[in-house]
Amino acid sequence: MSDASTGSLYVVATPIGNLEDLSPRAARVLGEVALVAAEDTRHTSRLLRHLGIAPAVVSLHEHNEAGRVEQIDARLAAGEDVALVSDAGTPLISDPGFVLVRELRARGRRVTPVPGACALVAALSAAGLATDRFLFNGFLPAKGGARRARLEALVEREESLVFYESPHRIEATLADLSTVFGERRLVLARELTKTFETFLDGSADELIARLEADPDQARGEFVVMVEGAAPREVGETATLEADALLASLLAEGVGVKQAAGAAARLLGGAKKTWYARAQQLKDGD
Ligand code: SAM
Repeated sequence: MSDASTGSLYVVATPIGNLEDLSPRAARVLGEVALVAAEDTRHTSRLLRHLGIAPAVVSLHEHNEAGRVEQIDARLAAGEDVALVSDAGTPLISDPGFVLVRELRARGRRVTPVPGACALVAALSAAGLATDRFLFNGFLPAKGGARRARLEALVEREESLVFYESPHRIEATLADLSTVFGERRLVLARELTKTFETFLDGSADELIARLEADPDQARGEFVVMVEGAAPREVGETATLEADALLASLLAEGVGVKQAAGAAARLLGGAKKTWYARAQQLKDGD
């Protein structure tokens, strides 16, 4: 249980390009806390100067995060508030902070989000891809083999897929997306909220051609989105494996209705459709 005499850790989102995206609440919190823990102190100092405030700032990045926990916890224990920020967007989203937040929560400290910009949410909100379900995958592995293996593991997913990518690897990643996803629709969101914000839409091969025709399109920061796999029709799902399951149940004397129920439970899809398939198999089709 957190007690009222201790401080809070505020997890504060900062802009991903456009400084107007910093919320008034974020500005107030950064001005009120005793300490700001920042991924890069120089980078954050520029933002703080822009806001006209000068709180104490310490670094918190992947190499010193574990060591900072005690120091920050001591400040909270003393009743002081601390803010956590990263270079851009929401801390912990492909950014440092997870170790600190997990540890402080385990110790019963108050951890409060101050929400704001996040590149993946900004990209999805304007891409025109389905957003009812999506799968955020962070950065893909840097090495080609591992990257393709990761993509291959995702090819059947029906959710929209979202990746972060650096300009150094965007072309290689598009080439791998072409190999793995073929003609599947992609959206490339570049330089969100900045002067040269662009959304490019098309198959991986179409996007590669666009980047080759205009190398400026390969510069900057990217969110790569891939349309989810089309939901499988039952006809497609009625693979040999599924047929084998139904056939073996029927062979054991399980009724068509029960076999359809078992297939729906095990394989998903509507019981009605499995019933029709089981009936076909029973009739020898
Ligand atoms: N914490 C951040 C967030 O909330 O989005 C993400 C940090 S991650 C280290 C940086 C990656 O986010 C970039 O390589 C890029 O893929 C994506 N990103 C950040 N800002 C972006 C922007 N303005 N436009 C497009 N992508 C951006």
